[in-house]
This record gives sequence, C-alpha cells and structure tokens, in this order.
Amino acid sequence: MDFMPLNGRQFPRFSGIKTFYRLPYVTDPNLDFNVAIMGAPSDAGVSYRPGARFAPSAIRDISSLGRSYHWNHDIHVFKKLKCADVGDSSVDPLSIENTLTLIEQNSFDWIQAQKKLLTFGGDHSVTLALLRAFKRYHKTPLNFIHFDAHLDTYPAAWGHEYHHGSFVRHAIEEGLINPSSSLQIGVRGPLAGDEDLNVNIKYNLKYITTDEIKIEGLKEISKKLSHFNGPTYLSFDIDCLDPAYAPGTGTPVPAGLTSFEALWLIRQLSISNLVGADVVEVSPPFDQSQITALLAAQVGHEFLAKML
Ligand code: MN
Ligand code: MN
Repeated sequence: MDFMPLNGRQFPRFSGIKTFYRLPYVTDPNLDFNVAIMGAPSDAGVSYRPGARFAPSAIRDISSLGRSYHWNHDIHVFKKLKCADVGDSSVDPLSIENTLTLIEQNSFDWIQAQKKLLTFGGDHSVTLALLRAFKRYHKTPLNFIHFDAHLDTYPAAWGHEYHHGSFVRHAIEEGLINPSSSLQIGVRGPLAGDEDLNVNIKYNLKYITTDEIKIEGLKEISKKLSHFNGPTYLSFDIDCLDPAYAPGTGTPVPAGLTSFEALWLIRQLSISNLVGADVVEVSPPFDQSQITALLAAQVGHEFLAKML
C-alpha cells in the first residue's frame, strides 16, 4: 500500500468513497504507516447546539479538496508521511462516560502501535479521552497547546463533571498534561465571572487572548510562542475562529480569529515531537456552504505538516 490519496485525474475529487483526504481506509494497526486519522463522532458533552457527531462525515466529504503540498513549509505532506483513515472510534450516544472509555480504548490501539494520531471530533470532551490514552502510553504529562474561544476549565454543569467545557480542568487534575508547559490561544470573553480564571491562576496555565493577537499583531505574538520540547498534543476548537469564518459550531463567540490568523499561528508553532492533534466542535447542521468543515480539513493538513 502506498498510503497516497486517490488520484484526482483517475477519480475526480467529487467521486470515490469518502475518506479523510482520500487516503486509504485501514483497520490493521500493525501495517507500516505513520499517522492514523480517526473520527470521534460524539456530541454527548455539548451544552448548547448539538451536531458535532456529524463532523467526521462532513470533514471527510470536503477533505476531498485537500492537496498534499504545503507551500509555506515546502513539504509534500502525504509523500513524507504515510497517513491512513482508520475510521471512527465507537461511541455510546447515551453515555458520555462510556464514550470516553471507548474513545480512550480505540485511540490507544493506534498509539500503542506507534502511530501518531489526528482525530476529528466530536465535541471537545473527546479530547479528555485522547489525552488519557496518550498519558497511558507516554507515562508522562504532555505539553498541551489549545486553540479555543473558551478556557474549558469550567466546573461541573447540571451536576455532571464531564462535558465539553471541563476537559482542560480534568486533564490537569488527572495529570494528563503539564499546565506550566501548556498554552491556550484565542480565548476571549465574556466569562461567567472572574472566578473562571481560577484554574489558570492556580496551575499557572498561560493563555494568549484574541484581543492580544488582534491588537499586538501576529508578528509580535509569534515571539511569545516558546518552543515545545517533549511529547506535545495540539487541540483545535474551531470556535477559536470568528463565527463569520466558522459558523458551524456549537458555542460560537463573536470577535474571534480569522482563518488566516489561525493558520498562520499554527505555522509559527515550534514543536519537537507532536504526538497527537485534534480538530473539534464542528457542527455540520449549523454550517453554511461547508466553510467550517473545509477549514477543519485544512487545519488537519497543517497539523500533519507539524508532525513531520
Ligand atoms: Mn473547547
Ligand atoms: Mn470553545
């Protein structure tokens, strides 16, 4: 198997069975390839608009437009990196606890076979399961880079600890990530109250707000991006973007990043060992003309380039 996308001259981009980036569909972890690309179709942790369970299918569909060559980095991503669509993790739509267990098990199978993992959610609660699997394998807390409008360090909601707005707090409390070597990018208000910052203060979890990015400018902000040494995980909540650029999401927040700003910031990140990444919170029922799903597919391509 050559692990290359389906040839667009032989099978035009509107044709063929839809896999991520038209890559081969693989179910055997023992095959020799580098990156497993998985869907995690769960929105069991959503507090407002549901629909993220449909994102892996929608992103597979529009990722037909993906191209291999990364112009800025001068890399033929799919020639350098053997990638495969490994299908969706199983989930339990009636139980977030079961879903977290299933996603942790499914992702661990690929991680244990020494694959890097790119996951398309799902709502942001799926990242907790993925981080549990990576911690289980690496046995050390990971560096964590987190694009989001929200801090996702919030308390239990309706008495439930696990939801899409609490996974960062759980990841810190469970020792899955090292907060002092982590960074949140694109966060902005309004918050429920200033106590929403308590977790960041308590654990010295740093953040760069959208206001800082917009007012100081991309070049100034890129100087604040330190090098990430050691196993690093990158999580991209599509709502870090302005709803004008990413309307298809569960909890939109106005005055966000543009597509260009988000992609440019990803390119500036210096990461020695990116072991896993995800793109979450795409909600196709609220999307327009597939623009949110298209951006998610391109963010995934950026992450693959970072894995090289
Ligand atoms: Mn989030
Ligand atoms: Mn968010």
